[in-house]
Amino acid sequence: MPKGLVSERRPAPPQARAPATALAANPALAKKLEKLGVRIPFDLVLHLPMRYEDETVLTPIGEALDGSIAQIEGEVVRTEVAYRPRRQLISHIKDVTGAAVLRFFNFYPSQHKALAAGARVRAFGELRAGFFGAEMVHPRFRVLRTDAHDAPLPDTLTPVYPNTAGVSQYQLRVLIGQALQTESLDDTLPEPIRAEAGLIEFSEAVRTLHHPPPDVDEQALLDRSHPAWRRVKFDELLGQQLSMRMHYRARQALAAPALPARKSLIPKLLEALPFKLTSAQRRVWKQIGDDLARSHPMHRLLQGDVGSGKTIVAALAALRAVENGYQASFMAPTEILAEQHYRKLSQWIRPLGVEIAWISGGQKKSERNRIARGVADGSIAIVIGTHALVQDSTQFARLGLAIVDEQHRFGVRQRLALRAKVAQPTDGAKVAQSTDRAKVSDSAGPLEAHILMMSATPIPRTLAMSFFADLEVSAIDELPPGRTPIVTKLVADSRRDEVVRRIREACAAGQQAYWVCPLIEESETLDLQTAIESHALLSAALPELRVGLVHGRLSTQEKAAVMDAFVAGDIDVLVATSVIEVGVDVSNASLMVIEHAERFGLAQLHQLRGRVGRGTVESACILLYKSPLSPNARARLRVIYQSTDGFAIANEDLKLRGPGELLGARQSGVPMLRFADLQSDRDLLEAACAAAERMLDEYPQAAHAHSARWMAGRAELLRA
Ligand code: ADP
Ligand code: MG
Repeated sequence: MPKGLVSERRPAPPQARAPATALAANPALAKKLEKLGVRIPFDLVLHLPMRYEDETVLTPIGEALDGSIAQIEGEVVRTEVAYRPRRQLISHIKDVTGAAVLRFFNFYPSQHKALAAGARVRAFGELRAGFFGAEMVHPRFRVLRTDAHDAPLPDTLTPVYPNTAGVSQYQLRVLIGQALQTESLDDTLPEPIRAEAGLIEFSEAVRTLHHPPPDVDEQALLDRSHPAWRRVKFDELLGQQLSMRMHYRARQALAAPALPARKSLIPKLLEALPFKLTSAQRRVWKQIGDDLARSHPMHRLLQGDVGSGKTIVAALAALRAVENGYQASFMAPTEILAEQHYRKLSQWIRPLGVEIAWISGGQKKSERNRIARGVADGSIAIVIGTHALVQDSTQFARLGLAIVDEQHRFGVRQRLALRAKVAQPTDGAKVAQSTDRAKVSDSAGPLEAHILMMSATPIPRTLAMSFFADLEVSAIDELPPGRTPIVTKLVADSRRDEVVRRIREACAAGQQAYWVCPLIEESETLDLQTAIESHALLSAALPELRVGLVHGRLSTQEKAAVMDAFVAGDIDVLVATSVIEVGVDVSNASLMVIEHAERFGLAQLHQLRGRVGRGTVESACILLYKSPLSPNARARLRVIYQSTDGFAIANEDLKLRGPGELLGARQSGVPMLRFADLQSDRDLLEAACAAAERMLDEYPQAAHAHSARWMAGRAELLRA
């Protein structure tokens, strides 16, 4: 690396201070920088350029090519203000090879004055052939002191940073240049790890990115394949890996009630079930059961495509807690789903003499209080509900397991509330009576409940490796037998009549159908309106059928009543907004029509489609779309048409939309990657995973230093 890379072309203004002082002394500037993600001085080091300008050379005016970006230097011949065709400042300059015009449409009197005849000026911009010869419109320029017209040129490329209103490139360059001098750029990677990963040093990487030498491979900088970029991306991925693994290890140090197999309730339930577990269900249940038997809190994500049978596995886990004298909570994202789980679990679990309850927004206060008392005194063993379960004051006597269904639908606040709830001290007296006393008493401190999360959205491997590195993951990769595949059809909106006929036929044959209306994000009213209109149209078109309507504006009881009627077969066609998206299970429904399918996301379409195909009759999903389709909508519909494999669909979704959507709530709970890209930087991700384990084991101090550098002020989000 050439020396003096951090020197600025312009002398730093005399009042310049180290960034830390500058930020503290100038709250207005600090606020603007925050918009750029710069909160602490080290963030300046990681505020990397978008592109560069080459101001290391001067081009003789006579040799500059038309249309090229060039830096020229010359003497002002004259400067004048012209008024036609509009007010502008025109400065004529010349060097020994030729002449050029600098033209400004917005200018200050001070600029006019500075460009006085005889001044030496250096200008940077695009040179174009104009009517009066070569000209630059709004070049960046500076007037050189005449006594020092050999003002040195920079010896590195000039960085152009992402900026925001009120923070100039010049300010950023000065602040970042200072940060590169005052902040510690010490390498956080132990030498053997750096060498093994084939990476350059951190200080060299950031210096190169901010001030590349003129002969740098600029293309590699722009497409981020340059070794300097690779180092920064690796460090970012490593930072993420380290904090998630530290989080994981910290959890392993916490105590949880050990919930070993007791063989009292579970064998009875398995015997009473109308079906046998699939081998995938047995496998994941063993993994979960093994975790629960340990005296450290489990945080396990159970993945499984829609209809793969996650609920029964959750029920087994809940019973395991109950067998051991603990309670289980079961949280679902919507009231409809919570009620359905309540129904299903009651069917399975009540006969075993286990007390199970449902907390719902629609319950009477007295009923609600009765349940709260039962939860608090431990007489209710399993309680099901929405996020109200963790957010309100419900006190558990001895919560052993918290189950979260469709975990990606919960926000950060709910995740935090859940964390607080599972960490609530359990009833000491009752725990002490438990037979696991020996197991728990060796680890001091309060007990935390285990957490089982479930999701029907499969997580592609790269995402799992990076954003879910702190969780154990189990997958049910097999559907229960006897399902008939769903036939998916794409039908233009103009052929709606045929679709209505199809519904008539299906219902005449004793089947039921869903008609799903799109969610209109901007307007809940419009949303409702389309559902009401579709309901009216279908009721008129199908007078012999019973057409029901369910949407988000109905009260809990109203929603439950409609769903009950649909389950009971008293409604033939259910018109719904996407409230039915998650988890509803009506096996006699074999036809689903999705209106304006082009407005739905891939994961959502896949979830919706999973509502049918639960019985033995052949099922169909008709995607009504409105032409013309955007290229992206066309691509989405093609994917959903061609595949019923949730995993393949999630992978396509990742390609089409990036990780944000798939991460759901995690998105806001986990630091997103600024530099690395999971698709194109897979090799770096693998290397960072390996390095993280090794650093934690062999170089714990370096691991902490690295994590502190990359996760400063962000690590606590991981707890969500
Ligand atoms: P999801 O994984 O989407 O939550 P559910 O747990 O709702 O799926 O299960 C879908 C349906 O399959 C339910 O009706 C459930 O009772 C049934 N089911 C679950 N496991 C099996 C199995 N092993 N054999 C047959 N049916 C099963
Ligand atoms: Mg489910």
